[in-house]
Formats: sequence, structure tokens, C-alpha cells
Amino acid sequence: MICLRQNLKRLKKLLVGLAVPIGLILSGCSNGEQSADPIGTGKKMVVCTTTMIHDIGKVLAGDLLDLRGIMKAGEDPHIYELKPHDTKLIIEADLILMNGLHLEAQVGHVIEEKARGRVSRLAEDPRIVTLGSEDAAGAPDPHCWFNPEYFKIYVEKARDALSGIDPDNVETYNNRAKAYMKELDELFAWGKKVVAAIPREQRIMVTSHDAFQYFGKAFDIEVYAVAGISTEQDPAPQDRLKLETLVKERGAKALFVETSVRDALNNMIQQIAKSSGAKIGGTLYSDSLGEPGSVADTYIHMMKHNLSTLADTLK
Ligand SMILES: [Zn+2]
Repeated sequence: MICLRQNLKRLKKLLVGLAVPIGLILSGCSNGEQSADPIGTGKKMVVCTTTMIHDIGKVLAGDLLDLRGIMKAGEDPHIYELKPHDTKLIIEADLILMNGLHLEAQVGHVIEEKARGRVSRLAEDPRIVTLGSEDAAGAPDPHCWFNPEYFKIYVEKARDALSGIDPDNVETYNNRAKAYMKELDELFAWGKKVVAAIPREQRIMVTSHDAFQYFGKAFDIEVYAVAGISTEQDPAPQDRLKLETLVKERGAKALFVETSVRDALNNMIQQIAKSSGAKIGGTLYSDSLGEPGSVADTYIHMMKHNLSTLADTLK
């Protein structure tokens, strides 16, 4: 279908004198799908894969670029299936900001195959020392954003990638990144204080999938999970039994469910809690932020929610 957008410049000239909202007219040519540049601003398009990375995009470039997020709140990046519109965004993006380390399993393959613009994998950096997983034959653990020091590296890499496609605004990206990284330092300091108030022997965190190793290392909490670093496969019965024994032997006070994983994994956590006599300590946000306006609608809010939930339950 030949879209009016293709004649945008000519159309803009025509409409200047008519004061007709261009966005309204253009919205009629997209069959309900968003076009890549719906208001014809000529802004470069940046596509972010996960909600955590979309948050970085909003902080650094929200008003300056045409920013798009692929995954919405509550979606699981390990098993997210691309929609046709996502593929269009991947093809048309000037820049894609993604986690990498195989977090975005299917999405990552399509980006490798189809992206025409630049791609920045924010977790793939020599300064980030990746952790492995016992049950994934040494595959790197992709959940690096849970260490605020590593999340600052994400911010730096995003800042540099944005500056690369939009050199006119380098100073703004630098200033915003600097201010945001200061907020992340404050978050980290606050979080360490909150965790320090939990007696050391009670700092045991048991969750649905193994997303919190970097978090545990950063905040000095022991971390265990019923499923591995990906959510794709069900855990083996012996792994479940091992976890149940551990919860009993160590006297773990509580287990935690997660917002973005399959019900089957959260159900297993419920069952282990029941059979071991521990309680469900609450819901943690692992691989996705919460809905806009929720307690976890930004990275900083999400971290504060998780840390407060743990401290309130384990103290
Ligand atoms: Zn995960």
C-alpha cells in the first residue's frame, strides 16, 4: 500500500497553510499499525527490547528521538514471540538497544538477521564479569541489570550509541546520563543499607527462576531458584526436591514469586512453600518492569520495590 507518509515533505508544505494536524491524516494510512514515523518529525528511530532498556531510552532520549519498546510490562524476554509489527520496527530502526547474552532469545535472532541500523548489546561489555549457570553448561547469565554498577554500564553504552546516531545532542545525552548515574549510585547505597538491616543468616532469597545472581552478589544475599537462568524449561523433579530440602534445612523464611514468568514456575514456588512450611514473601519483578503508574514502572522504582519486599519479609 502506498502510504501518504512517502509524500510527507510535499504534504507538509501543503498543510502548513491549512493548520491540519498531520498526525491525524497520516494515521489513516497505517491500517491500525503504527508507522515508523507517525508524526513526520524526521526523528531517528530507536528500538528497545526489554522494559528496563526502554526505561534507559526514556531517561536519556525520550523527547529527542522516536523511541519504541518491543516488550511491554510483564512480558518474559526469554520466551517473547515477535509480532509482525516488531519485525517492521527492527528493520526500520536507526538503532536497537538490547540486553544481549541471549536474554532476548527469539527477538535476538531476528535482530541478527534483519536489523539494518546499529545494534548495541548493553550487557556485552568487558567490564561486566558474567556469571555462569550450574544447569546451563556454562551459558552466561544475562540478568546483569540487577547489579546497579552494571546497569550504569548499560547507561553509558546507551548514551554512546544515542550520541552516535544523533551527534547534535551529545551534550544533552552526556548531562542526562551523568545525572541518572548519580541517581543509580544513590539507589545502590540505599539498597545496601536496607539489606544490611536483615540479619545475615536470614538473607536467603528463593525465587521462581534464576534471575537474581547479580542482584545477590551486589547486595550480599544468597540466591536460589526453582528454574534455571532461562524460563523456557520446567525444572527436573530432583532440582525441585533439592530446593525443598534447602529451604527446610536453612530455615528460609520466605519464597518469592515473579511477575514475568510462566504460571507453572510460580506454582512450583507455591508448592515448595506449602510443603516446607515457608511463606510466600511477595512478588518480585525479575525480567520486566511493571505497568506505567505501578510500584515498579521504572528501573529505580522496580529495584526499590524488590529491595523493600525482601527487607520487610526477611527481617
Ligand atoms: Zn530471566
